[in-house]
Amino acid sequence: MRKDNNTKTGVITPKSEEDLRKMITKKNIEKRYFKQSKLKEVKLKIFLRQYEYYQLIEQTIRNQNNTMLNDDDIERWDRQISHPLIDQKKIRDARVVVFGVGGIGTNVLLGLIYSGVHNFILIDHDKIELSNLNRQTLYTPEDVGKIKVKKAKERLLKINPNANIEIHNININYPKELNILEINEAEYLRDIDEINKIIKTNDYIINALDLFGAPYLINDLCIKNRKPFYWGVVNQTTGDLFNYYPEETACLRCIFGDKYLRFRTNKQSVFNSLKKTGNIGDVVIATGSIISQNIINDICGYINSSRGHFIIVDLFNYEIIKIPVIPHKQCQCRKYFQK
Ligand SMILES: [Zn+2]
Repeated sequence: MRKDNNTKTGVITPKSEEDLRKMITKKNIEKRYFKQSKLKEVKLKIFLRQYEYYQLIEQTIRNQNNTMLNDDDIERWDRQISHPLIDQKKIRDARVVVFGVGGIGTNVLLGLIYSGVHNFILIDHDKIELSNLNRQTLYTPEDVGKIKVKKAKERLLKINPNANIEIHNININYPKELNILEINEAEYLRDIDEINKIIKTNDYIINALDLFGAPYLINDLCIKNRKPFYWGVVNQTTGDLFNYYPEETACLRCIFGDKYLRFRTNKQSVFNSLKKTGNIGDVVIATGSIISQNIINDICGYINSSRGHFIIVDLFNYEIIKIPVIPHKQCQCRKYFQK
């Protein structure tokens, strides 16, 4: 093995299959307590997949990009810059919008800001409650009663004072019956022009609003503006996740149809059911963390086999279930595929 060309990072990366083989000798793997042959086999497969990453990426381009960072940034993100999938400059320059800075939103934000994303727009209208604090990790007890987007901004700036954070304390009230994919733009733009502009001018949209038709509004606007969005909710012990990619994957309407809207129709019953069934902190944190890593992968241009799948993460049984979903024949989103 030899040192990486980028001496600032001081990284040692395998440059050939031979290098990697040295790293993953039978002896090394055994040292890592994999005495059982099945475990050894699986671990070897993972090591080889990691090697493929190195082959996938044009290392020279990565290094050139990373040298466009300033010295502080290189030092701060040194440990991840060393990974060939990471393009720190792209991460720094990405523009992320978070609709809903609650359980999912705060944890996605934590993952992204620690990864080096600098540009955020936060949208929410809630105030912080004491009962939020088991899972909404940007807030502390002294924040109770304060406006979420303001406190989220303060905390994020403590983590990275160089971040650019724009906040909107607005309530997205979206009539559940409305499907803006079915009406012409002039009609809907009057009411939601501001939200439309935000989506249009940014790159990655986190759809973490948990109210009535609002996730569908974001769904529809992302389809119209051809922007990817990332959606997730927590149901008791599992996190449900889905990413939308324009003209490629199913949308929320393809998956849930009207059932989702009906479920969200009665606010009180949803609220009571959440209180009754619980919203377990670690499940929310893990779900947010998976979404955050998904966004980082997309920013860096790494497409994995989860694309087009609905993902269920069951933390109580250590299971991740991937279910392929395809665009629904009758969904309005399909008419945007050809344009
Ligand atoms: Zn659809």
